[in-house]
Amino acid sequence: MKRAQVFEFFRRLAEANPSPTTELESSNPYQLLVAVVLSAQATDASVNIACRPLFARIANPQQMVDLGEDDLREAIKTIGLFNTKAKNVIALSRALIDSHGGEVPRTREELQALPGVGRKTANVVLNTAFGEETFAVDTHVFRVCNRTGLAPGKTVDEVEAKLEKIVPQPFRRDAHHWLILHGRYVCKARLPECWRCPVIDLCRYQPKTPPPEERAKASAARSASRASSKARIAKGRTASTRTASRNRSRPSRLP
Ligand code: SF4
Repeated sequence: MKRAQVFEFFRRLAEANPSPTTELESSNPYQLLVAVVLSAQATDASVNIACRPLFARIANPQQMVDLGEDDLREAIKTIGLFNTKAKNVIALSRALIDSHGGEVPRTREELQALPGVGRKTANVVLNTAFGEETFAVDTHVFRVCNRTGLAPGKTVDEVEAKLEKIVPQPFRRDAHHWLILHGRYVCKARLPECWRCPVIDLCRYQPKTPPPEERAKASAARSASRASSKARIAKGRTASTRTASRNRSRPSRLP
């Protein structure tokens, strides 16, 4: 995608949603960090459901350590991989108390040194809690960047490096939110909703998904054509059966 197209791509996403943010609910950087760790291979909605009552009681690492692993496991048992995640959250809370005075660190290196915190989690926290221009590449961002041709890459690291290079100001800070939301609600994995996509003319993906009415018409036409060809075949079979039976009843040679 050319530089002017990249600008236009984000301009339109920004126009449609001027203040994008994460859908994970939290009241401070620590809760956000915990929510992002819990969201690995789980939906934001499922994390919010489990975290609402948890975060009403737990707002800092010390309270989490005091709660303990067993109670935390119970609180998040509806989220996938809850055993490992409970272990990691308690361990990272201890590490925050021991090495960072109970605060969430502001550098990628320090964040990634915490248990259960990878590059993507660090990017989300740096961006959402501290306003850094980072590009967290999750499954939605990866798909949108590859499908559209915005920042194609074989790995999440490749896609992130391309986004770093091509995303212009004033979109750098919110770019990853726009891409996540676009992937989650419009450029969906199974069936991208191209007919209502604001960047349809900038995207290289083909064939574009037509509107539901057109798809319904096309599918009705396909069913009608299948039905008529079945009827033709059935008619042909009946005709040949009749000819064969006439031939069988007639002696092939005169005595
Ligand atoms: S046109 Fe379709 S494939 Fe391209 S970004 Fe929009 S929804 Fe995704």
